[in-house]
Amino acid sequence: MTVQTEASAPFSGTAISRPLGLPRARSPRRFGKRHLLAACLGSTFASAIVKRMFRNPSLLIVNYHRIATRVEHDDDNVATTPADLEWQVRWLRDNIRVLGGAEMAELIQGQRVLREPAVCLTFDDGYEDNFEAGRMLMEQFKVPAMFFIPTGFIETGSVPPWDRMAYALKHTSALHLDIPPMETLPGRRIDLRSPVAGSTLMEMFYALPTRMRQQLVEAVEAAAGVATCNTSGLFMSWDQIRKLHGMGHTIGAHSVTHPVMATLPAESQRSELAGSKQVLEERIGAPVQFFAYPFGKRRLTYDDTTAALAAEAGFLAALSNEGGWNNPDQLNPFHLRRIQVDLRTTRSRFKVRVLSRGVIPV
Ligand SMILES: [Zn+2]
Repeated sequence: MTVQTEASAPFSGTAISRPLGLPRARSPRRFGKRHLLAACLGSTFASAIVKRMFRNPSLLIVNYHRIATRVEHDDDNVATTPADLEWQVRWLRDNIRVLGGAEMAELIQGQRVLREPAVCLTFDDGYEDNFEAGRMLMEQFKVPAMFFIPTGFIETGSVPPWDRMAYALKHTSALHLDIPPMETLPGRRIDLRSPVAGSTLMEMFYALPTRMRQQLVEAVEAAAGVATCNTSGLFMSWDQIRKLHGMGHTIGAHSVTHPVMATLPAESQRSELAGSKQVLEERIGAPVQFFAYPFGKRRLTYDDTTAALAAEAGFLAALSNEGGWNNPDQLNPFHLRRIQVDLRTTRSRFKVRVLSRGVIPV
C-alpha cells in the first residue's frame, strides 16, 4: 500500500481510495494527451530514439502491488494483470538490465559501478498473487525481484482495514451505511451509490485517533451487514515466502502492521522496523537488508527520523514511493525512489517511463 500522488501514475478504480495523501485516490481511466504521447513514443521507432536519449547510468526502481484481473477486496491495490506483468517483464529482459537484491546491495555499498540504465522490480504487501508473479519472473525469464512483506499479515488472520472496508462495500446489499458517532467524528450516513463513498470512509478512518480506527471498520461491516472477509488465500504463507527466497528473489521488510510510521513515537517505529526484520530473518534464515516504508511518502508518512531508525535497525537501505529515478553516483540509500505501476500503465506508457527513467511524464 502506497501513497499515490504522482500525476503520471494515479490508480484508477472504484473501491476504497485514501485521502490525506495516504491512499491512492483512483480516477476513471483517461486517454488524454499523455496517453496519446505514450502511444506515439512507445512505437518501435520512437522508443529506440527515447532509449538513445536516456542512456546515461541510472537506476529505476519499479513498484507493484497486487497482480490480478479481479479481486474481492480493495481494487486500489491492483497494479496490473498477470498478462501485462508477463509482457512487461519480457520487454524489460529484452531491453534493459534488471538488477536483483544482491546487485542492489553491491551498488549501494559501492562494490559495483553502474555504466548503463538499470531497473529493479519490487512488489509490496505480500499478497498471495505476488507468489505466482515471483514464480513466473524466475521460471519464465530468470528475472529476480524484491518482495516487501508486512509480517503482521502473514498467517495471522489479520486483514488490512482498506481490504475489510472495500470488501464490505462490494458485498453489501445496502444502499447506504449509517455510521454512528465516534469520539471526534459525528455520525454520518454514507450513500453507497456515490462514487466517493469509499474515499469518504477512508477520510473518516484517517481522521480518527489510531486506537479508534478498528471500531470504525467494525461499524462499517456491521452497517453493511457483511462479516469480516476471510483471509484464506489473501496473503502469502511463510512457506511461499521461503520459496520465493529459495528461487533467488530478495525478501525485504515492510513493517509489522503497515502503519503510518511518521505518526508513531520513535519506540513504536523501532518495533515496526526491528520486529519485521527479525521475524523475516528467522523465517527465511537469511539477513534482511532492505525496508520499504509503508505508504512511502517522505515527510507525509515517513520522515528523517524514520530513515535514521531504519539505519539504526540494521537495514542497508530503504525504499520510498517518491517517484523518479536514482542517480547511481549519488544514491541516497534511505530515500531510494520508486515509480508505481498501476492499471493506467499501458504498455506504451510502461516503455516510455522506463526508457526515459520516468522523465517523460506519460
Ligand atoms: Zn504497503
